[in-house]
Amino acid sequence: MAGLYQMPKRRAWTIAVMAAAALALLFVLWWAVPDDPTPPVRTEAAVAAVTKPAVTPRRATATTPTFGRPRVEWAPRPPDAETVDPCTAVRDPELPEGFDSVSVDGITVAYARVSAAPNPYDRPLQPSVLARATLALLEEAAEATGTPARSQLTVIVWPDKEMFRSRTKAPIWAGGLYDGGVEIPADAHADLGVSLATLRHEIMHAQLHYSVGCTPVWFDEGVAQLFGGEVPVRTWNDAMRSHGWFDTRDLAVSSVVAVHTDEVRRVYAESLAMVVVALDKVSLADLVLAVRGADLDVWERRFGLDAHAVLDALAHRIYGISLGGDLDALLATPVCCSQVVDPRAIRCHASPPHEERYVWLDQRSAPAATCSTRW
Ligand SMILES: [Zn+2]
Repeated sequence: MAGLYQMPKRRAWTIAVMAAAALALLFVLWWAVPDDPTPPVRTEAAVAAVTKPAVTPRRATATTPTFGRPRVEWAPRPPDAETVDPCTAVRDPELPEGFDSVSVDGITVAYARVSAAPNPYDRPLQPSVLARATLALLEEAAEATGTPARSQLTVIVWPDKEMFRSRTKAPIWAGGLYDGGVEIPADAHADLGVSLATLRHEIMHAQLHYSVGCTPVWFDEGVAQLFGGEVPVRTWNDAMRSHGWFDTRDLAVSSVVAVHTDEVRRVYAESLAMVVVALDKVSLADLVLAVRGADLDVWERRFGLDAHAVLDALAHRIYGISLGGDLDALLATPVCCSQVVDPRAIRCHASPPHEERYVWLDQRSAPAATCSTRW
């Protein structure tokens, strides 16, 4: 067409070579830079936890990974950790200065005086109600474990999570802790003024410390979660997807010493799974008898299941199938679960996706199940 600009051949070649060079450079950059260029950082602030191995101090040493997973990386017990070692004697915590307290039949509840509720729907803490509830929960914990109920316990209610964490040195993920007494932050939305699941968890620690004493972490944390009604569905599912879990021998310490935050969920979830699987063979009272007075290796000698076998047994309980291809395929679909607040009763199944939602309730199944596209 007349009037069109005719580019000289030499200039066209120059432009083509420059464009090719730029494309080559872009390709090299794409190839050389990883998808996530930020290396994982472990901050010391993320180090958490609970107590130290006592009777036979045991520091896990890195050996063979389980299913390609690294073993638990235990760190030294933080010098300012206030949580108690279950292998030491029971002692009462000191009441914080300026706190009021009420005592009912050996249960003392200490609390900060708060002048007014900041929000109109906040529930005021009722210390004597909490003391009576604690008494009843201790009796329930004793009955469940076949042990004599602890007759004395102090519950310290901190006014908020920030003060709870700063004053007790609790790790960021901890909802409460047991340090000879129960330390727990107030929750103005909870009927009791504190989280019932957390209270139950810590009360079980108190009962086990008093009545069983020195125990491995899988038992102490597993039984506490069982009593708290906590079910780590997602963490269990993730372990089944990757077939990855820590060596059960890593949990043969007297309590969690100091475990990095990114591993905490898995340590707790595996502890609960070990208890749930053990309870397929023995009652909780018999499990207590097996652990009491035994050394920390009791799992290996008494049950002899490695981490893979524990996870496989858990998969059978929840999904009715073994680890492997079929379960991998099932876990790639939406999953519906019923009885998700009972670690022993929870059951899950595959589901077609919902047309509109990521999370929904399936009332056609009995019992009703809650469903999620990624669980
Ligand atoms: Zn615990």
